[in-house]
Parts: sequence; C-alpha cells; structure tokens
Amino acid sequence: VKGEGVLVSVSDVRALLIDLDGTLYDSGAPVPGAGEALAALRAAGLELRFLTNTDSKPAAALRRAVERYGFQVADAELFTPVVAAERYLTAWPHARALRLTDAAIRPAGAVDPAEGTATHVVVGDCRDTLNYHVLDRAFRELRNGAELLALQRGRYFRSPDGEHLDTGAVVAALEYASGVTARVLGKPSPDFFSLAVAACGYDARSCAVVGDDATTDVAGGQAIGAVTVQVRTGKYSAQQREAAYNGTPLPRADHTIASIAELPSLLGL
Ligand SMILES: [Mg+2]
Repeated sequence: VKGEGVLVSVSDVRALLIDLDGTLYDSGAPVPGAGEALAALRAAGLELRFLTNTDSKPAAALRRAVERYGFQVADAELFTPVVAAERYLTAWPHARALRLTDAAIRPAGAVDPAEGTATHVVVGDCRDTLNYHVLDRAFRELRNGAELLALQRGRYFRSPDGEHLDTGAVVAALEYASGVTARVLGKPSPDFFSLAVAACGYDARSCAVVGDDATTDVAGGQAIGAVTVQVRTGKYSAQQREAAYNGTPLPRADHTIASIAELPSLLGL
C-alpha cells in the first residue's frame, strides 16, 4: 500500500465513514475486493457507516439496492441526509418540523405541525407532494423564525429519460423568498459528517472518511478533522483530469489507495 503523504496516523481509527457509489461499487458493479475488505473491517471490530446523499429512498430500500451488489449492510449502518436530519432534530427536545418530503422518507411518528408554529422546515425529495400551498406554508414558517434544513441541494438529477429538477431547486426557492439560508445536512456539508461521526459514538479524530470524491468526501472529512482516505475508483480519474484542466487544486487526502480493497492493509489489519 502506498499512502501518499502519510500525515495522519490511522492507528487510532475506530470508525469508518464509507462512501457508497464510486467506492463500494462503480459503474454498476462491485469494486473488486470490496466485499472481502468489508469482512476484514468488520472482523476487526471497526464501526462502519455507509454515507450517501440519497434523499429519495428509505433505509430499507437503499439497503436492498446495496445488497444487489452483493454487500450485506444493516439499515442502521446507512447514513443518509434523512438520518442526519432525524439526529439533528433529536437535539431539539421541542422540535416541530414541517417536512417538505414525500411519505417514503418521512419517519414514523414525525410531527407535522398542522396548526401552530414550526421550529424547523425540512426539505427533501418531495416530487409527489410539492405544490404552492406547501411551499407557501414553509415560506411563512421561515419568515416566522423556523430553521431551514436541506437534505441536499442538488440542482438536478439524471434518470434514464433525462434530467429532472432536484431538491436544491426547492431549497433555493425558499431561500430566495424568505431570505433565510439553509443548513445542508447532506454531503459535502460538515454538519452531515459531524452527525455521522456522532452516530458512531467516537470523536472525529477516531473516524476515517473513505471516498472517491475529493470535493465532497475528502473536503467534508477534512472540515471536521477526521482522517481522510481517497480511493482511486469511481470519479477519481475524471475529477483529477478536470481539476488539472481547470487549474483548480483539489483537497488532498491524508491517504490515497487504489481502491477500498486496500483499506484493511492501510489500517494494518
Ligand atoms: Mg462517491
């Protein structure tokens, strides 16, 4: 294993925050050796969380998608912006969150303030329920002092039939009208990584963020003081080429490995 610029010791790592797309699987197939690597990490007793920005699927559906690549993960190991929002809201004992999210990602027992004032407005995938009245209600709550929480702020997403409006466009509309700036609870927001670290029960220095994207995984990990591990799968090559072409420096991880298959040996397992 060649660790480029070994700046931070991995000997204290107790938990791993592992990106899914481009890190565990790539272009529709599992990364070779990823399954064996996960088995070794589990055998070593490391706490694992799998991080993804997906805000359109509940944990069980996401887990089934991951299982189709041959990986066994527990629902509780999946850390998404939906999970991050729930953890964020539990820190507010009297939170009354108005949720602009579709039912599939709305947690059971979620309080939707039918009457009265919301303390938070949570915006996630709401393609089936968005309408003027919902947006207007959210706008009024924000003007009244509610905090705006965005599960992510992607502008658009791609489907087999082309591009579609994404959550970020709804967030931007509410920000524009209300003058409030959203707290983003998806990558690359440091809040997202901090909440994931807290979910593991360790401090950031005992956690390593592992991913293929320098601008989200590496930057997010660095922002909270975690150990960062860049894998050279997924979007790594394209991102490096694009950065070189544009002359924009990319965040440099503490460690760079060919793929997640090398993670156990990087950690001395
Ligand atoms: Mg990725």
